[in-house]
Formats: sequence, structure tokens, C-alpha cells
Amino acid sequence: MMATELLMVAPMMPHVMEALDRDFQVHRLWEAEDCQALLSEVGGRVKGIATNGHAGASAELMSALPNLEVISCFGVGYDGIDVEHAKTQGVIVTNTPDVLTEDVADIAFVLMLGVCRRIPQCDRYVREGKWLNGPYPLTDRLGGHTAGILGLGRIGKAIARRAEVCGMSVAYHGRREQTDQPYTFYADLAEMAAAVDYLVVACPGGAETDNLVNRRVLEALGEKGTLINIARGSVVEESALVELLLDGKLRGAGLDVFADEPKVPEALFALDNVVLLPHVGSASKETRKAMGDLVVDNLVAHFAGKPVLTPVT
Ligand code: NAP
Repeated sequence: MMATELLMVAPMMPHVMEALDRDFQVHRLWEAEDCQALLSEVGGRVKGIATNGHAGASAELMSALPNLEVISCFGVGYDGIDVEHAKTQGVIVTNTPDVLTEDVADIAFVLMLGVCRRIPQCDRYVREGKWLNGPYPLTDRLGGHTAGILGLGRIGKAIARRAEVCGMSVAYHGRREQTDQPYTFYADLAEMAAAVDYLVVACPGGAETDNLVNRRVLEALGEKGTLINIARGSVVEESALVELLLDGKLRGAGLDVFADEPKVPEALFALDNVVLLPHVGSASKETRKAMGDLVVDNLVAHFAGKPVLTPVT
């Protein structure tokens, strides 16, 4: 029997590539000298896509694959995939939720702690031999402050648990109140920003949340406030964020994601109240292995005639 044919849009971890090569005939789009020629040649036979949140899958790509049944995305954020178009075509989309939740929440928490306790600066202080000349200046504590979480989903709730453990109060904003949650709900994002010390962005990217954290929200967060973003750079009006930080109108920022990765506004490099990470929220070996396994398992389940494990609903 002929193996089911897949299109892999971008390279994946070796164990994912090996597993997919074992069970499927995989066409590697990024290796093609002429992508259009490859799609014209194999597009009619391709039944599945393996992709990631950045490479995604556009409506145009789906249109070149008339027999497409399923898209398996590495990552929980699927803003790069035209899910609405997939739905109209009856194409199932899967992602990799849950397995990365705790790691991403760890990074959000580390960013909060890193900014307020100046962890990277303390490390540099020791390495540069400055400790020999005297102690590091006092910093602020995290406990006793308030975290306002934008997007109290899987990751947002895991961040809330960490914040509570260290003695913070928690509030949240989303499109609806979650009455089963013990935290203070704000229907208005700017109102929450005005009330909290840390605004933690944990909602999805995409058109609906584009620049949701705009200048008005950042100004409401103000000089007493720190922005933490582990979600997507697109959710924050980055130019306003940089300007307010440079003008001392925000207390600080901890950022794992940016508008135009891997490019980071260089103006931030000189600031001591900012901690910058290269989008490593889910980047532990264990979690990335589990995410890769889920990409494979979703495709295997679908083509074995079973329900996929983690559909995007
Ligand atoms: P989730 O469980 O779906 O939670 C998303 C939350 O955002 C929900 O509580 C939802 O609440 C809220 N939300 C959705 N649209 C909103 C809107 N327009 N305005 C306000 N709130 C909105 O997703 P998750 O697993 O926690 O992941 C969250 C995001 O984290 C992902 O989409 C991804 O972009 C990002 N992420 C980043 C990394 C990293 O490496 N830095 C890794 C994994 C994920 P309502 O429905 O009540 O609005």
C-alpha cells in the first residue's frame, strides 16, 4: 500500500522527522528549490501538513492541497494557521496544548522575578568582580504585589498558581468572567492595568488580539507597572512599549516574545529594568520532545481512522 503523503512546511526536531518518515511519505517544502513546482507535482496527493506556529499554513497553501484532511501544528499558538479557512474546507487542525503549560508558566514567573530582583544584573555584578567593591543595591520584592493576567487559560492559570505561592494577589482579564476562579475579574483591560503591578500577557496571538496591549493600556500600567509577555509579540504595541520604557514611564519589562523575532528593538539592550529572552517559554528538552510526539500522534491517529488527540476547537 502506498504511504500517506504529508507536507512538512518547516524543519522539525529529529525524532519527529524520523517518526514521520517511518509512517508517511514526507515532502519537505523548505528544501524545495521551487516550492510552487513541488506543490504542483505533489499537492493533489498530500493529505496532511506538519507545521509550527511560525511557519503556519495559509489559505493559499491549503488551496494548493485539494485533498488535505489534517494540519498538525507544533506549538499551542496556531495564529500562523488560517483556522477559519481550514474549517470551511473541513480540514482538522491540531496543536500541542497542556504539555508545555508548566514550562511556559515557569518562564513567566522567572521573568517577573528576574525584573524585580534584577537577577541578570546580579549575575553580571559577580562576574565583573564588582561584588569585591561592595554589595549589590537593594531591589524590590515580588511578594505582596499584584499580577494581572491577560488570558487566564491553561498557561495563565499556571502563572496564577506560581504568583499565589509567592504571596502575590491575582487578577485577570479575558473575554468572559470565569466564575469558578478565585481571582478578581476585570472586564476592562486598561482598568486592570491601572490596578496591578505586573501585567502578564498570556492570551493567543492573531488578528483578534493584535496590539491589544496598546499605548493606552501601557500608560495605565504606568510607572508602578511591569509588563511581562510570554504570549506573542503581536499582542503588544511594541513601539509604544519601547518609548515608554525609554522615557521611564513604565517600571520594567520581561519579554520572551517580540513583534519581529528574532529581531529585538536594540533600544532595549541598554535598559537595566528589562529582561529579554529568545522565545524559550517551552524550550526544555522534555517539553519539546512531548510536543513533537503529539504532532506525530495526532497525524497517526487521524490516518488510522481515530479521533485526533488535541484538536483546535
Ligand atoms: P488557552 O488555554 O487557550 O488560553 C488562552 C486564554 O486567552 C483564554 O483564557 C482566553 O480566555 C484568553 N483570550 C483569548 N482571546 C482573548 C481576547 N481576545 N482577549 C482577552 N483574552 C483572550 O491557551 P494557552 O495554552 O494558555 O496558551 C496561551 C498562549 O501562549 C498561546 O496562544 C501562545 O501564543 C502562547 N505561548 C507562548 C509560548 C512561548 O514559548 N513563549 C509557548 C506556548 C504558548 P477567554 O476565552 O475567556 O477570553
